[in-house]
Amino acid sequence: MARDFLAGCNDEYDVVVIGSGLAGLTAANLLGRAGHRVLLLEQHYKLGGLATWFRRPKSHIFDISLHGFPYGMVKSCRRYWNQDIADRIVQLKHIRFDNPMFSLTTTFNRDDFTRLLSTRFGIDPARVQEFFDTARGMNFYDDQEMTTRELFDRFFPGREDVVRLLMEPITYANGSTLEDPAITYGIVFSNFMAKGVFIYEGGTDDLINRMHRELRRNGVDCRIRCDVSRVEVGPRGVRAVVVNGRRIRCRAVVSNSNLRSTIFQLVGEEKFDKNFVEQAREVRLNNSSTQVYMGLKEGVEVDESTGDLLFSSTAPVFRTDLLLSRDITSRTFSFYYPRTRPDQKPRYAIVSSTNARYEDWANLSDEEYEASKRELIETTLDALDKYVPNIRQKVDHVEAATPRTFQHYTKHQLGASFGTKFEGLAVSRALPDQVPGLYHAGSVGIIMSGWLGAINYGVIVANDVDQRLMRGQAIPAGNQTA
Ligand SMILES: Cc1cc2nc3c(=O)[nH]c(=O)nc-3n(C[C@H](O)[C@H](O)[C@H](O)COP(=O)(O)OP(=O)(O)OC[C@H]3O[C@@H](n4cnc5c(N)ncnc54)[C@H](O)[C@@H]3O)c2cc1C
Repeated sequence: MARDFLAGCNDEYDVVVIGSGLAGLTAANLLGRAGHRVLLLEQHYKLGGLATWFRRPKSHIFDISLHGFPYGMVKSCRRYWNQDIADRIVQLKHIRFDNPMFSLTTTFNRDDFTRLLSTRFGIDPARVQEFFDTARGMNFYDDQEMTTRELFDRFFPGREDVVRLLMEPITYANGSTLEDPAITYGIVFSNFMAKGVFIYEGGTDDLINRMHRELRRNGVDCRIRCDVSRVEVGPRGVRAVVVNGRRIRCRAVVSNSNLRSTIFQLVGEEKFDKNFVEQAREVRLNNSSTQVYMGLKEGVEVDESTGDLLFSSTAPVFRTDLLLSRDITSRTFSFYYPRTRPDQKPRYAIVSSTNARYEDWANLSDEEYEASKRELIETTLDALDKYVPNIRQKVDHVEAATPRTFQHYTKHQLGASFGTKFEGLAVSRALPDQVPGLYHAGSVGIIMSGWLGAINYGVIVANDVDQRLMRGQAIPAGNQTA
């Protein structure tokens, strides 16, 4: 008989969280901590969403999205998770760039960028300060018309090398382009510049296990392999979810599923007004990625001067379309030294990531798909050989993930790595005005994407839900039709 992943589940909760990405986990944790009855439903066989990892024979563990986040994670993890998690966040000190315009290593913070921009790129330090202050002063309520390209033109006209230094890592970090609103750049860039790039020591598996423990401590009922097929909406708002063929009543739903899937598949467009549906249709999904995971043989070492994060490119200039092209010229290599997982067997791993378009991979036949993955692996090994000589003799496990892989595991439409573009944020925030009790927390709008953005968005939405639940305490779940 098939296993019942909902065994022992109640028929009713205050809130159901659909999806266990970092936003869903954080929203569930805070609502549980606030004393609400919370059910967290994840369709995959493990928690974490894109914050995930996988194991392979010979003690290899690969992280999918643990490449770097801003220092703000320390505060967010301390406040909304626990001190233990916050204490494991460590800085990556060797951020390397290698492209036809320049090769350099930086600690990727304001002081070091100011030094580089003035000494190596010859920019007047006063101009650099002005740029940093402008980027830092940006907030969501600012003018959203100015594009990132216009921002750069204002401060560094004609300096494509400077644009490349400032933009390439951010495009990699959240898929934003020169054509996106400048605030999406300014906020994320300033977050990194505050102190540099950080990761979680212990690996994603350790982080998610600790989060799971904290969720249990806060009374959250967490279920994996629970694919929500429907959010049931009555005349007065959310009433229940349908999951694995069972109906579970609730007063509120936080969907961590892709925004577009939430509206058009889980709820259904007939539940929203026409203008809103039009606005939701206009929301563009973010791009996807390919990755190549390489595990080094036991005993093989890589010198730490190779870098923690290496933005490599053979393209003569920086252009967004080149970054997305199947003809790959830019790769970001993440080097995982044994210190990434101090409690595990000493192992080195390297992950190469490249932004990609879903459509370039979607319609390949099985043979074409396998051949394309093979080609991706071979060209990646060729590119890496420049930084780790004889890499082919050093690896004993290599495999690739494509936009199809990301879609398969997370149900993100088109395998989107960072949810939606900027316009998704307004649509996400407007959901409860359309359907009382319906919320979305998850990657939208660049600012609310990535590990830190997703966690912080989970916090914002948890506060909204908490207020609603406190207001409506008297109404039993599932009875909002009265
Ligand atoms: C290759 C790659 C590299 C990245 N690198 C970085 C990085 O270095 N730094 C950084 O900060 N960010 C990085 N990111 C982005 C970051 O991982 C994401 O922005 C963040 O983890 C997304 O969190 P989320 O809460 O939006 O949910 P997601 O991680 O998207 O999770 C959504 C969850 O909902 C579940 N779900 C969906 N539909 C249903 C349903 N109907 N029923 C039940 N469950 C459902 C999915 O299975 C999934 O678990 C990277 C992303 C990718 C793809």
